[in-house]
Amino acid sequence: MKDIGFHKDLTTGCYLNPFDGFEPKDMPIEERYDETTGVASRILPYRVHPARKPDTDAYVEKSPESICPFCPELFEKLTPKFTPDIVEGGKFKKGSAFLFPNAFPYDAANAVAILSSRHFIPLDQLTAETMRDGFAICRDYFFRIAELQKGYQYCSINWNYMPPAGGGLIHPHLQTIVGKKPTNFMRRLLASAQNYMAASDGGNLWRNILVMEEETKERYIVSTGTISWLTAFSPKGMAGEVDFYFKEKTSFFDLTEANFDEMLLGLSRVFLYLYVNNYMSFNLSLYATMTPDKNFWVQGKIMPRFELNPLGTSDINYFEKLHDEIICPIAPEQLCKELRSYFV
Ligand SMILES: [Zn+2]
Repeated sequence: MKDIGFHKDLTTGCYLNPFDGFEPKDMPIEERYDETTGVASRILPYRVHPARKPDTDAYVEKSPESICPFCPELFEKLTPKFTPDIVEGGKFKKGSAFLFPNAFPYDAANAVAILSSRHFIPLDQLTAETMRDGFAICRDYFFRIAELQKGYQYCSINWNYMPPAGGGLIHPHLQTIVGKKPTNFMRRLLASAQNYMAASDGGNLWRNILVMEEETKERYIVSTGTISWLTAFSPKGMAGEVDFYFKEKTSFFDLTEANFDEMLLGLSRVFLYLYVNNYMSFNLSLYATMTPDKNFWVQGKIMPRFELNPLGTSDINYFEKLHDEIICPIAPEQLCKELRSYFV
């Protein structure tokens, strides 16, 4: 099997420790690089954890239902509509979920989906059931887009849950992107898979990542059937990263309703872990091609997000923004162990 391209280097920081009579103290730092994703990170040996339960009430107070464009009172008045050739009535609807154009689009076709009319759903209440209609409506929309044959080839379902992750509204909402070109990161994943195939005489990168990870068991959380869940070798976020792969699914339209249910149940377990561990926020993306591409398996990433109190300090700093490296004080192998117990 061709090497996946996970690299590790150890270096050591040293200082005189004020908490131990200024005795010398060594601090091991692990530098990691993942050729597949291009993500470089530094895994630090000390555990930083948001110690206090986040004050979600403060956010809800600042952003009440009465001024929320996604709550029933203002929804019809303030949300954009599609033209009738895309959907009769201007919006996609399923149960109490709706999908409509993003008022601040960043692509030719960029839509927003609300899970329901419920204004705030705490992390521990994001069950498969509460998320089902919201994701199903994104699926309906992608089917409609494919039917219109406008040449879109790449799609994603994305989520900024709560303000620390970039969420502009408390009201839970997903964002979909369909594109003729992949986003920059997706292009990287596609190229890695293509290069791997070419260099290994037809090998599939994702299959081999899963084989390797399942064998070493260090970052492999669980297989729930079609989906394998693992923690990323070199995480893209300070609180680590959870990845999930739909085995042998080479287009968004390969996914069945049962596959979605399996994904949502898994997501709800990760979200419960985050809730219990005092995180309040996450980013999520599900990446897929819209026509079968045997080199690319449908896959997703979840990144816990947080702010450090008392100042509300961001979990993104110069090292990530300007040096393109991630400082991660939780080892992916440790995160994996902790998550496993939520999947039993
Ligand atoms: Zn609302």
